[in-house]
Amino acid sequence: MEQDMMVEDFVLSILIHGLRYLEFIGDGDSSVHQRLIERVTYGKEIVKNECSNHVTKNFTGDLFSLTKNKYQFSKILTKSCISSLTKNLRGTIKKGQEDGGSVDNLKNLLRNVPSHVFGDHNKCSSGCSKSGNVEGKLSRVPTIVGEAVNDKLQEVIRKAPSLLIEVTTNIAETL
Ligand SMILES: [Zn+2]
Repeated sequence: MEQDMMVEDFVLSILIHGLRYLEFIGDGDSSVHQRLIERVTYGKEIVKNECSNHVTKNFTGDLFSLTKNKYQFSKILTKSCISSLTKNLRGTIKKGQEDGGSVDNLKNLLRNVPSHVFGDHNKCSSGCSKSGNVEGKLSRVPTIVGEAVNDKLQEVIRKAPSLLIEVTTNIAETL
């Protein structure tokens, strides 16, 4: 219902106010975006932004799915390890937002999340107490696990522009 109202808002905004909403905050459900494309004349121009909570939650879910029936993965990606990765991701997104909103900066910060958690602090800023150090635990992380985590992280990195926009309402543009 709420979703129908939102689509309706997009349709009416242009008719009544001559406004085009070009962005909206969505969850993982793509059906709203699809309906906007179908029903709003400028639907194809509307960009879907996902909130950081949702993106983080997806990443955590992806990591848990990696551990299913795979000992090599579950040995490294323990509950506490996944929780560290999640916590770190959350903090990194916040830091990227506070840094002033450069997409490239946020992307670089995000790329370092697994390294930091797995013990390679070479690219950590001075904010990390182990900055510049490499911990012994890094050698226990199989390449295949590191690569799989990085692979899941790509999905977050791809959404970096959207993570920097902490909008609570739709951004409108006057025609
Ligand atoms: Zn670090």
